[in-house]
Amino acid sequence: MPSGGGLIIQPDWLITESSEKPKRHWGLRICDGKIFSVGPNEKLENDFPEDKVFTAREKVLMPGFVNGHTHMYGVLAHGIPLESAPSDFWSFLESFWWPLVEDKIDHEMISAATEWLCSEMLLTGTTTFCDILEAPFSLPDSLIIEKEIVNNRGLRALLSFEATERSGSDIALKGIDENIRLIEAAADDDLVSGLMSVHTTFTCSDDFLRQAFEIAESHNALFHAHCNEGSYEGEWCEKTYGHRTFEHYEQLGINGSRFLASQCVHLSDKEVELIANAGTRCVHMPLSNCEVGGGIAPIPELLEKGVTVGLGSDGYINDMFEVMRSAFLIHKARLQDPGVMNAAQVFDMATLQGAKALGFEDVGALQPDFVADLQLVDANFPTPLTEENLLEQLLLYRSNRHVDSVMVAGEWKMQNGEIIGVNIEDQRESLHRQTDRLWR
Ligand SMILES: [Zn+2]
Repeated sequence: MPSGGGLIIQPDWLITESSEKPKRHWGLRICDGKIFSVGPNEKLENDFPEDKVFTAREKVLMPGFVNGHTHMYGVLAHGIPLESAPSDFWSFLESFWWPLVEDKIDHEMISAATEWLCSEMLLTGTTTFCDILEAPFSLPDSLIIEKEIVNNRGLRALLSFEATERSGSDIALKGIDENIRLIEAAADDDLVSGLMSVHTTFTCSDDFLRQAFEIAESHNALFHAHCNEGSYEGEWCEKTYGHRTFEHYEQLGINGSRFLASQCVHLSDKEVELIANAGTRCVHMPLSNCEVGGGIAPIPELLEKGVTVGLGSDGYINDMFEVMRSAFLIHKARLQDPGVMNAAQVFDMATLQGAKALGFEDVGALQPDFVADLQLVDANFPTPLTEENLLEQLLLYRSNRHVDSVMVAGEWKMQNGEIIGVNIEDQRESLHRQTDRLWR
């Protein structure tokens, strides 16, 4: 593109992707929602003297985060009063999450939660997210409602409904239909797309799982399932089928890079091999695994085998800095090895690798021809920044309050810590009204 049509952003530091060293006084030129060139701040200005220039003093310019797995409706349960803490993962689902949260969610609650979450994503520097809606009695239309709001807010998202047979086969089929409708409605959409999602092997029959996977294949969409979040599913599969979860999926013909397996906390050695050999993609949620007493996923082991692993919040604590921090620390403690899960690996999972896990080719890095999804983060640390320490400083000492500005597809969505065009207090009030209804 000739000079004059672009925007040059000039930060103190630029992180293009975790495999390259951070660059001091380098920036970007953006045209038509994409990154056109990367270079030293002064050179960009000299090469394109007609462009607008945005100076971002004391800021790090870096890719927007990819939250690989969230449940927007989950915010409605943040702080919900409980008579007693669930004793294990199964009782968490059976006596709390299903009857008191999922089964009560309706369209008004979904709308308020979606609006709020779009804001929360931006406030934590997240530009792309994958959402799994679990609300069997909100069908049909719940995904169409979400899509309209996400489109309106201009974030990049994969949306899906988690189909499950636990509430009967009619509702289960409605869940599949909702995914098909969304996939078709989003076919020509630049920002929103759909995928096929089911719950687990213990809430879906073999025929149902196969059917959902075939539909994903015929629509060229990802197939998502929650896998081995607690020890329950693997043990249940062993008892019921004589083999573990991923062996069962393999037997059903559900495997390969179309399979997006989230959680993956309890894996046998054989399951790790199956995931790696089939090219199954995974998403890791260290904080919500703690919440449900689920355990610690063998993520360094999966990465070692070359598995693509993204990071997600699971709708629990949606600040990707917190999610990165826990992924950075928890495996060091588990393996008693401070050398595992270095900052570059974790940053990669929250950006480029996370985008790959969701099937994006041009998201998650600030390189020419990638989409201009980015964030500016406060670089005013108490100790000096260097090429070597910048990623670790960000991972350990930054949080959502340090995110200054966020851009999606070349458009500023947040500047100076304020979301553009949104009254956050109105959104909070509406969310309070809907949580009151749910909690009652
Ligand atoms: Zn989840």
